[in-house]
Amino acid sequence: MSLFDTLVLDPTFTCSVCGKTHTTLQTHSLGDSFATYRKGSFIRCCPVHYGILREALYCRHEGTDEAPKQEVWLVLWHGIYAGHAPDEESAKAALAKVDRLDLIRWLEAAQSDAQSWQSRYRRLFRDLDDWKDVRDNPPVPPIEGQRAPWNFRQLPDEVWQDADPLSRIIERNALSAEEEKASVRDSWGW
Ligand SMILES: [Zn+2]
Repeated sequence: MSLFDTLVLDPTFTCSVCGKTHTTLQTHSLGDSFATYRKGSFIRCCPVHYGILREALYCRHEGTDEAPKQEVWLVLWHGIYAGHAPDEESAKAALAKVDRLDLIRWLEAAQSDAQSWQSRYRRLFRDLDDWKDVRDNPPVPPIEGQRAPWNFRQLPDEVWQDADPLSRIIERNALSAEEEKASVRDSWGW
């Protein structure tokens, strides 16, 4: 199986035959780097700098083995994926309408996404670092009559005291349903 890229369709694409909603589209036209692009993403290996590109979406209709091809037109603006359109004319119109406000929105989305992943990484790293610290330096029970030593860990006692602390750490750092949806792991365009 050769590599492909995944485009997030925003708005979603509805099959004109069976009504199925498609949230993503696989393409071999944008460099095949196994990347996921959403509106506003810079496409590193994009062969089209500025223009529109005809792509095909295959919808496997419910209850059949048929997967007829339907056209989706991609809009590419200075190497950025700027969305999709159902036909050539509306793709041309969408390309002509891209402006600086779109750029600001895309920039904000990209920075928010990067900040969110950085903070998730830091939280997960801190949890694992705390767990390693507890494993290597098990807490000494407090001596009666003396104040317990200050705990600098963010990891709650019930996590490191659990029989399987790593599973608890994975659970508390798991993506929320909304984050899961945004990360586009759910659908591959069929
Ligand atoms: Zn269909």
